[in-house]
Parts: sequence; C-alpha cells; structure tokens
Amino acid sequence: MASSAFPVVRNIVRKCCSRPIYQPFRLKSSTSAASSSSSEIRPGETIYTDEHFQLRDSLRKVIEKDINPHVDEWEAAGQFPAHEVFKKLGDAGFLGVTKPTEYGGLGLDFSYSIALAEELGGINCGAIPMAVGVQTDMATPALATFGSDRVKREFLTPSITGDKVSCLGVSEVGGGSDVASIQTKAVKKGGDYVINGGKMWTTNGFQADWMCLLANTSDGPPHMNKSLICLPMDAKGITLAKRIDKLGMRSSDTAQVFFDDVHVPQEYIIGEEGMGFTYQMVQFQCERMFAAAAAILPLQAIIKETIEYTRSRKAFGQPILNNQSVHFTLAELETEVELIKSLLYRTVALYIQGNDVTKLASMCKLKVGRLSREVTDKCLQYWGGMGFTNDVLISRFYRDFRLLSIGGGADEVMLNIICKYMDTLPKPPKLKPKA
Ligand SMILES: Cc1cc2nc3c(=O)[nH]c(=O)nc-3n(C[C@H](O)[C@H](O)[C@H](O)COP(=O)(O)OP(=O)(O)OC[C@H]3O[C@@H](n4cnc5c(N)ncnc54)[C@H](O)[C@@H]3O)c2cc1C
Repeated sequence: MASSAFPVVRNIVRKCCSRPIYQPFRLKSSTSAASSSSSEIRPGETIYTDEHFQLRDSLRKVIEKDINPHVDEWEAAGQFPAHEVFKKLGDAGFLGVTKPTEYGGLGLDFSYSIALAEELGGINCGAIPMAVGVQTDMATPALATFGSDRVKREFLTPSITGDKVSCLGVSEVGGGSDVASIQTKAVKKGGDYVINGGKMWTTNGFQADWMCLLANTSDGPPHMNKSLICLPMDAKGITLAKRIDKLGMRSSDTAQVFFDDVHVPQEYIIGEEGMGFTYQMVQFQCERMFAAAAAILPLQAIIKETIEYTRSRKAFGQPILNNQSVHFTLAELETEVELIKSLLYRTVALYIQGNDVTKLASMCKLKVGRLSREVTDKCLQYWGGMGFTNDVLISRFYRDFRLLSIGGGADEVMLNIICKYMDTLPKPPKLKPKA
C-alpha cells in the first residue's frame, strides 16, 4: 500500500515546490481552464488543483484497501488499531502534508490538509477520521509552528511518520467550553514541570504516545497563564480511567486521564510559557476547518443513499421519493451541503493567504454541526425502521455526527465567537469603585 501511494505524494510535492505553494484563486474563462496545466485550479473548485485530486485519489485507495474493509470489525471491538492505521497513513505521506519538510512533512499549504480531510470522510464511520484529524490538525499545528527543534524532532517527526500517536488534552471534568477555566497545573521544579490535574474526553487517549497538553503554568490572568506542553503518555503518574461509556463513536478511543505529580522536562514546552491559550485558539482554527471538511463526503453519501433507498422503497403504491416533501427536502439538504463547501473553501483560501479566519472558521463549524444533525435526522426518517438498525450507514452517522455540535467547541461557543467579531456580545458590567 505505502509503496504505491508514496511516489504519487512525492511527485505532487516536487511539482508544487517548483511553483509558489499557493496560487490564489482567479477567474478563468472555460477555454483557458480547459487548456490549463495540471497545477492550476479546476473550474468550479475554489482551492483544489489536479495535485489535490491526485492526493485525494491516493488516500481513497488506502481507505478502500486498508481501512473500510475493517471498520465493522473495529466498531464491534470498540476500538480501532491506531498505531497500525497511522503507520500506513504515515508511510504513504498523509500525516504531515502541511508540516515542515525538515521534520518529515511535505511542506504544502493548508488546502492540502483540507483536501485530505475531505477524503477521510470516505471512511465508513466518524471515529477514525476524527482520530486522524487529532494527529494532523488538532494536536500538532502549534507544535509545528511554535515548537523548538528538540520537541519537533522528538514528537512531531514520529507523529508524521505514524510511529507515534498523539492526543490533545484541553477539556477537563470541570468543563470544556470555558477553556480559560481549566484547572490542570504544571509547576516548575528543578528542570521539570510537575503536573497535577486531569483531562476528559481525550480522543486517542488510550493509544496515544504523547499528549499536547494545555496546563496552567502560573497564577496570572487566565488567558496568559497557560502553556502547551508535549507530555509523553508513559510518564510516571499518568493513569487512564476505564473506557468511557458512550452512545456514539463506537470505535473511538476516548479517555479520562489523571495526572498525579507527573514530571516532564521543561524543554518539552511548546513555544513561550504563558502563550498556551493563544496557541490553542490558533490551533482550534485548523480543527474547525478540518471538522467541516471531513463531514462533506458523508453528508453527500447519506443524501445519495437516501435517494436510492426511497426510490426503491414503495409506500401507498409509489416510491417514497415521489412525494414532493421528500425530494424537495433532499434538494434543500444538498443545497446546504454545497453552501458549506463554498464557505469552507473561501475560509481556507483566506487562511492560506495569512488572514484571520476565526469568524469564518467558527461559522463553518457551527453550520456543519447543525447541518449534520439536520441531514442525518431528516434522512433517517425516510429510512423508516431500517434507519434504526446497525446495518445502514445513516444510522452510524446519525450517532457519530451528533458530536459535531459539541466537540471542538459547542455551537453556542461558536456563536459567542461570531458575536465577538460582530461586536454584539454584551460586555461585562463595569464594577463601581467602592467609596
Ligand atoms: C467524542 C468526544 C471526543 C472529544 N475529544 C476531545 C479531545 O480529544 N480533546 C479535548 O480536549 N476535548 C475533547 N472533547 C471534549 C469537547 O471538546 C467538549 O465536550 C466540548 O468542548 C464541550 O465541553 P463540555 O462537554 O465540558 O460541555 P460544557 O462546557 O459543560 O457545556 C455543556 C453545554 O452547555 C452549553 N453552553 C456552553 N457554553 C455556553 C454559552 N456560553 N452559552 C450558551 N450555552 C453554552 C452548550 O450547549 C454545551 O454543549 C471530546 C468530546 C467528545 C464527546
């Protein structure tokens, strides 16, 4: 597998590196587009070139050969083999497309990550794309951008090759929405940080080799007292709670993690002390765009399968699809998916050009969460009793996609961010000084 996909990936890199990494979108006439070279953007697509599609084709082959045939078995087992799957993806060059070449990455721009995220949506469950996304776009962006050479060599390189599995430790038992209020502390002692506290809902937690940990490293103001630290998961003093019972994401690996006087060298900090909150907010942008991209293919597949099912299934002497309420609803849903795609591509294009896309990325995440709930709920309805069985894809995504309105920042948190950018969020009342 790896040997067949790898040359394609390397070839793409060679081509891309001989021209500016990102070619901004420009309008082309259909004639010039038809005669354009393979590295130019295809008509109708805002950010993807032929290289993006080649990369996606290679990933699709890996998914079809090495992942999808096993998904049912992993779902039944309640876990997928992260090291095995990540190694295959790493060998093929898929785990570090945007990461610096000196650490084993491909040095491409973020549109390539989004192209792969979209293709990961071809995996027949929600858990594995999310686990891969944690590795590529949630636990490692800050490390790649702000980390020292030492931490990059120790944690980034093996994460790109798929030899190490990473996880992200932000949410805690006390809350996930209010990131500034986390309680985990990392206190300097000798040459180490000593960590106490715990994390909750840690995706990949049971199989991870290291965690990108957000912890309080001082008692200062909550937005300036936090740091990101690379924490080896085999460090003494780390324990994991037994698997969390969950309704969804059956093959996902979501752990509660406890830290009891865990020592980690101070050199394992990512970037500057006290900048962790800011770095994490930057890192969240990649996570939110990833979440939107990975949902597109499943949403389209669900709509397509529902069309096929309702065309073949009859009630009251005619295909269910013939009811106007059914085909109009499916048309509405398809339209909404196209709108999300367009918003996502515009957001990514602006991000690559160096713009602050916090507002747009939050809008992508908000809309994809809501639309995923709407598509899965409305389509499941048209499957009737069949939609309630484990045999059909719609049922799995109805369960797994519920997460999109909660994880990585709940809908309400996205609305808060959007309101901040719209300057409509009420400011806290100023306290009158005591006389
Ligand atoms: C399967 C899964 C995987 C996850 N993986 C990870 C991971 O790898 N790493 C990690 O750090 N975290 C992870 N999370 C945690 C996730 O990010 C949090 O669940 C999420 O941020 C919400 O935090 P919470 O669950 O503590 O909800 P709370 O913060 O308790 O909020 C509960 C609800 O209150 C509402 N709410 C919150 N704030 C407001 C507001 N200002 N206004 C109005 N309503 C509000 C929202 O509806 C929200 O859903 C994961 C969660 C799940 C379920």
